[in-house]
Amino acid sequence: MSVEQAPVQRADFDQVMVPNYSPAAFIPVRGEGSRVWDQSGRELIDFAGGIAVNALGHCHPALVKALTEQANTLWHVSNVFTNEPALRLAHKLVDATFAERAFFCNSGAEANEAAFKLARRVAHDRFGPEKHEIIATVNSFHGRTLFTVSVGGQPKYSDGFGPKITGISHVPYNDLEALKAQISDKTCAVVIEPIQGESGVVPADKAYLEGARKLCDTHNALLIFDEVQTGVGRTGSLYAYQHYGVTPDILTSAKSLGGGFPIGAMLTTTDLAKHLAVGTHGTTYGGNPLACAVACAVLDVVNTPETLAGIKAKHERFKARLEKIGQQSGLFTQVRGVGLLIGCVLGDAWKGKAKDILNAAEKEGVMVLQAGPDVVRFAPSLVVEDADIDEGLARFERAVAKLTQG
Ligand SMILES: *Cc1c(COP(=O)(O)O)cnc(C)c1O
Repeated sequence: MSVEQAPVQRADFDQVMVPNYSPAAFIPVRGEGSRVWDQSGRELIDFAGGIAVNALGHCHPALVKALTEQANTLWHVSNVFTNEPALRLAHKLVDATFAERAFFCNSGAEANEAAFKLARRVAHDRFGPEKHEIIATVNSFHGRTLFTVSVGGQPKYSDGFGPKITGISHVPYNDLEALKAQISDKTCAVVIEPIQGESGVVPADKAYLEGARKLCDTHNALLIFDEVQTGVGRTGSLYAYQHYGVTPDILTSAKSLGGGFPIGAMLTTTDLAKHLAVGTHGTTYGGNPLACAVACAVLDVVNTPETLAGIKAKHERFKARLEKIGQQSGLFTQVRGVGLLIGCVLGDAWKGKAKDILNAAEKEGVMVLQAGPDVVRFAPSLVVEDADIDEGLARFERAVAKLTQG
């Protein structure tokens, strides 16, 4: 039985949607691997990956299988009951990381919301209400709920919505002295993205994360790593903390975890988790069987030596070609990032024009991202085929050439 669907087009967006986004002029309708097709049948190579979400590209057979099998089995029961996919996923995450406990939710913001509430709760229970301050970094991004924009270091996202959550300060990223000057016995948590994603693909220095770990220990503060963007293989390690060798107390994961199906997770130790006792926190959909079944399949594919080694090799392939494009065109001065989270830093002449480059790339049939106005970001599928990398970068090179040659 097929139901006739009314035709829709991009112009409908401006008629019926809240105008908080400004989507591209075309509408993707189908995807397979690292290729996407729009309404007109035009094919594009996808290096945007749904903003570091489609870890296994589009419609990966293992994920389609997991989702459809679960769809024919059990969709939702709420947290009044537990369910098998959620327990399996928690086991996988506990086995693969420092964590001993998992809390599931539906997005990165919710995972961070849980992390911040846990950190405050732990400090409240152990030390009293005075110890509630959170230190975050300038330009950080932690999501769009009121708590997470308050913690995030970008006033453009938090201003204009009335009083913010208080007790939060921001220190420059990768600046250990600044953190040292700010931290005190009132600090309950320090939150850091191991690589700042949204604000330009800026990797942390190892010594910075090591120093932050020590400062937190000295002041009985919890170290939270926001791995919403860096997690689930993005860096070539399952989580970036493993790449750096610095272990947080709380880790948040989302984006790639569901490979395109919404899910978030907060991971922590038993000792900390016990402070979120029955009734202290929750969400209706968290641990939904569909989401957890898909995430289990994502982890089964990503967390293998072959996939993780492949990510490092693909990084080299991207980086070598991008550096060449940068040198030839003068468009960007640096290619940075880890694994398959790569940022091309625009030179002075192109500063502020990342969006123009995205548009030019799309015209040549390749989808890329920006990370702020000065960085073009690549966050492709972790299993993108080498042939797709080569073809996509050839298209990108053509776009850059057209742009720089007028
Ligand atoms: C995307 C992102 C978030 C927010 O995740 P949502 O699923 O959009 O709520 C939080 N932190 C980081 C580092 C992110 O990249």
